[in-house]
Amino acid sequence: MRVLVWFRNDLRLHDHAPLHTAFQHQFEPIAVYCFDLRQFGQTSFGFEKTGAFRAQFLRESVMALRESLRSHRSNLMIRIGQPELIVPELAQALGCEAVYFHKEVTSEEVSVEAALQQRLDALGIRHQSFWGATLHEPDELPFAVAQIPEIFTQFRKRVEAEVKVAQPLPTPTQFPPLPPDLNCGDCPTLAQLGLEDVATDPRAVQTFRGGEAEGLKRLQTYIWEKDRLRVYKQTRNGMLDPDDSSKLSPWLALGCLSPRYVHDQVAQYEAERVKNDSTYWLIFELLWRDYFRWISAKHGDRLFRSSGLRGLKLPWKEDWARFELWRNGKTGYPLVDASMQELLTTGFMSNRGRQNVASFLTKNLGIHWQMGAEWFESKLIDYDVCSNWGNWNYTAGVGNDARGFRFFNILKQSKDYDPKGEYVRHWLPELASIPGEQIHTPWKLTPLEQKLYGIQLGVSYPNVVVDLWTSAKANEQLYNQACDQFDAKNQPFRGVTKPHRR
Ligand SMILES: Cc1cc2nc3c(=O)[nH]c(=O)nc-3n(C[C@H](O)[C@H](O)[C@H](O)COP(=O)(O)OP(=O)(O)OC[C@H]3O[C@@H](n4cnc5c(N)ncnc54)[C@H](O)[C@@H]3O)c2cc1C
Repeated sequence: MRVLVWFRNDLRLHDHAPLHTAFQHQFEPIAVYCFDLRQFGQTSFGFEKTGAFRAQFLRESVMALRESLRSHRSNLMIRIGQPELIVPELAQALGCEAVYFHKEVTSEEVSVEAALQQRLDALGIRHQSFWGATLHEPDELPFAVAQIPEIFTQFRKRVEAEVKVAQPLPTPTQFPPLPPDLNCGDCPTLAQLGLEDVATDPRAVQTFRGGEAEGLKRLQTYIWEKDRLRVYKQTRNGMLDPDDSSKLSPWLALGCLSPRYVHDQVAQYEAERVKNDSTYWLIFELLWRDYFRWISAKHGDRLFRSSGLRGLKLPWKEDWARFELWRNGKTGYPLVDASMQELLTTGFMSNRGRQNVASFLTKNLGIHWQMGAEWFESKLIDYDVCSNWGNWNYTAGVGNDARGFRFFNILKQSKDYDPKGEYVRHWLPELASIPGEQIHTPWKLTPLEQKLYGIQLGVSYPNVVVDLWTSAKANEQLYNQACDQFDAKNQPFRGVTKPHRR
């Protein structure tokens, strides 16, 4: 019996439940991936929905999957178009009894699944969906998805105490031959996806290449060869050294790496080398990743609403002039500018950078958090719908456990996490000659110092767009007013605005 395995954000052979199940039942799997052009359109604010860095990483991952299937004398069919039309058609034409795939949780993806299932039902073709993007399956959790706690710590403590992470499923080794004359199709070029080629800036901290083998290689290098897991907790906030943090996110986002496999490797490392707060912390971060997915599954479209998961209506501004300064790294705050230029020219930014720039956009500039979330969606090479929109909800203060107006003091952050100014110097060469931590406050330079360091404020580097404290105070007031109104109603999760995007 033939089964069509529809690949989505699960571009791997290891720990792959649909493939594993097909083999368990001795079915013949035929693999297919569809480039859905809707994912290459525009976001609601007019940005490329999938920018060139991620599109290229995706192409590499799809082609790598094809190569590994070929090495097993199989192949990956590649199509361009809507999966809900293409997959049932293929299943019928190839005489497949069933279609297997991994489930997603957010609305665009879920509506594709629903339409696909409807069509398959009409054709009398069975379908089965699987869970595969988190450490645990829904039925392993100590609570139903609808009852997931609204506070991460409550979720984490119960999960840590009550459930183990299952072993990853084995990688299939022997594939049956494919039907003869199968038209496997070609991988679209960036131009066919409506995108222009981009070269990653040579200053990029890490070059990311898509595909399962590359993801496994990075895991092997980071954990075992460089032995950096040992000190992850101390280094993970660094912004410049590629091994400060794991850099696994792009492969996890596209499913080239399974989180259960990462967990398994960490457990092995703990058994063979060392078990310490760093090894624990990597799993802690993977639980955050899971948590955003569970919360997205629980709350659906609230994730994408202007009022966020909490339903808090704030008077966000659509100030395009200032947004342009933010997205191009021209705000006058070196840490923000360096981070935004890194994102623009490489598709990556450290977690520390993301938290600071998101806080600056929402808490200092008061600009609509969804503009930031969509910009990240467009640019991030590791874009993951739940992690991105979940983190933005959180930083904008509209998340499920939002508590008060919290904002990052960019200057303190700069001094704490880039004390010598090396990160800023790396990305903003125009400031490179300013010594030590003075580089974080170029607006304080006297005319004489400016001359000495070859800078002209307002010409070679911008003046600050807002004062840090005055702007935060003004936005705090607006936030507190909105909270008072919200609390007066005391009806959590009654966001009345329409879903903005999905
Ligand atoms: C505004 C904002 C937007 C973000 N958007 C994304 C996104 O689209 N995709 C994405 O993968 N991460 C996102 N993150 C989370 C985090 O910044 C990245 O996962 C991390 O920087 C990736 O680098 P790393 O793999 O070296 O992380 P490490 O520190 O090595 O962490 C290991 C893994 O844990 C997960 N992880 C770590 N921190 C978080 C977190 N805060 N939330 C969710 N998962 C986490 C990631 O899968 C990461 O690869 C966002 C954070 C913020 C503040």
